[in-house]
Amino acid sequence: MNRDQLEQLRARPKARVLVVGGGINGVATFRYLATQGIDVALVERGDYCQGASGASSHMIHGGIRYLENGEFRLVHESVQERNSLLEIAPHYVKPLQTTIPIFSTFSGMLSAPIRFLTHKSGKPTERGAALIKAGLIMYDVFAGIDGRNTPWHNFKGSKAARKDLPELREDVKYTATYFDASVHNPERLTLDVLRDGLGANDQARASNYVELATVTDGTATLRDVLTGEQFDFQAEVIINATGAWVDLTNAELGKNTKWTGGTKGSHIVLDHPELLAATGGREIFFENEDGRIVLIYPMLGRVLVGTTDLEHDMREPAVCTDEEVAYFFDLIGQVFPRISVSEEQIVYKFSGVRPLPNHDDTAPGFVSRDYQVRETRLTDSTMMLSLIGGKWTTFRALAENLGGKALAFLGESEKHSTQGVAIGGGKKFPTNEGQLAAWYAAREDRAPHARLRVLLERYGTGADRVLAEVGEHEELLTHSSELSVQELSYLVTHEQVGRLIDVFIRRTNLAFRGLVTKDLVNEVASHLAVPMGWDQTQTAAEIDNSLSVLAESHGVILA
Ligand SMILES: Cc1cc2nc3c(=O)[nH]c(=O)nc-3n(C[C@H](O)[C@H](O)[C@H](O)COP(=O)(O)OP(=O)(O)OC[C@H]3O[C@@H](n4cnc5c(N)ncnc54)[C@H](O)[C@@H]3O)c2cc1C
Repeated sequence: MNRDQLEQLRARPKARVLVVGGGINGVATFRYLATQGIDVALVERGDYCQGASGASSHMIHGGIRYLENGEFRLVHESVQERNSLLEIAPHYVKPLQTTIPIFSTFSGMLSAPIRFLTHKSGKPTERGAALIKAGLIMYDVFAGIDGRNTPWHNFKGSKAARKDLPELREDVKYTATYFDASVHNPERLTLDVLRDGLGANDQARASNYVELATVTDGTATLRDVLTGEQFDFQAEVIINATGAWVDLTNAELGKNTKWTGGTKGSHIVLDHPELLAATGGREIFFENEDGRIVLIYPMLGRVLVGTTDLEHDMREPAVCTDEEVAYFFDLIGQVFPRISVSEEQIVYKFSGVRPLPNHDDTAPGFVSRDYQVRETRLTDSTMMLSLIGGKWTTFRALAENLGGKALAFLGESEKHSTQGVAIGGGKKFPTNEGQLAAWYAAREDRAPHARLRVLLERYGTGADRVLAEVGEHEELLTHSSELSVQELSYLVTHEQVGRLIDVFIRRTNLAFRGLVTKDLVNEVASHLAVPMGWDQTQTAAEIDNSLSVLAESHGVILA
């Protein structure tokens, strides 16, 4: 196992800023500070992107629904960040055409913008449709404010709507279609942001499987989760970016806060070609009668269906329950009544907790999605900044804001903005057919086309780095044509693989697509054993752990 980063933390146990939490917001803040030349360190208790960041609905969106709460700042920032991410991370962030079906008999359907615009809930009548249009105009105006040429929304009547989406319920009255985006590989995008941070300055260090155990008189105690060893670490600013765990982290530091009120959201992933075809390549997005926003959309050749919004106790694991699955099946039936779905078509389930602010009586679906930063002075010379909230979509802007507050405390100023700076394998990523053909042609002597495609999708233009490392004679695995023995060794050396399960869920998306088998788990374990330094007992324990994580957290039972 390569734990160079941990060794660097131990060898020089101090930094100006210590970021705690390796979700997208912690990692993005780490990258921002590293880019400013700050001596910055990051620790993540588990693997990077294993919290809410690995459990989102994968939408990179303005959040049309937040208009109803009057969250104009957030919607404006979000649509601009969405547009920007399409340019700076084109390897993982893709345009997503989104269609809202409007049925006259659906009482809750898109009442959200209606509520905002009329200040009362109303049934989506023809008048409702006109108001939805007004909401979409507002959304498009925000998207175009910085001069970007974002496609404008369109509205269609029943006949045209059913021509586009023939499986839609027959009594659809209108469809409203607009343009958002989705992140296809959030785990790898987080790793790319991390890599950019690590490369930005020599002092930047980050390790997964290391947790903040406590802070005494301004000195943090860090614990290696894989060995249990502890060591002290000093920093002038501690950034608590532990998402929905912020209050639990504070409790470990002896601070009793009630700043967060996370809500659980689950998703299922279906291998269902008929449903996939019915979506017509779009996200079908609507509000259910219970006020929850529901989505059904194509993702990596599968169909992603979500989500729920339920109060959750952070001391308990978040898992997708049978009731939630039944709820999703019901929703699919409401939109595509002729398409049947069954449990066997579910290839993956996942669940996570949104790091929302404490919301007392406000219904979960209506809690602000905007973020806040709370300051706590730990000693005269140590400050803690706690992040409350923060969507995936706005991570770059949020990092500038949060990192900027750390800079202010340190008496430093911003030297470089991250705005418009390409991320990882998004640099020079081929975005049209001509560029794509040229990219493949320039590498056709290095690997077969199918293998190049896997690497380009997985690493963006970082594929060149991997190709250089794996050499020309890769041995593909017996139980997956998408991984090679040499690539596994690359992942151990360069991507901080800490546990076997990391390979299936966060270094590749094989688990998400339902492509992990027991044979594959055994095969990958056998190749990782030597580079990871596992003996037979540890290898067997890693296999058991992978099987139980897949079964208990993702509903994947491997026979
Ligand atoms: C169901 C759901 C759907 C969502 N859909 C969308 C969407 O479509 N679009 C969108 O923009 N946003 C969406 N979000 C919101 C978004 O995913 C989150 O707000 C965002 O990922 C939060 O990132 P984070 O880094 O702040 O927190 P997290 O990703 O939760 O990261 C916090 C990290 O801190 C670590 N940690 C905790 N305690 C310690 C400790 N003591 N020491 C070290 N590490 C610690 C945890 O292991 C965790 O990895 C969704 C969220 C959920 C749950």
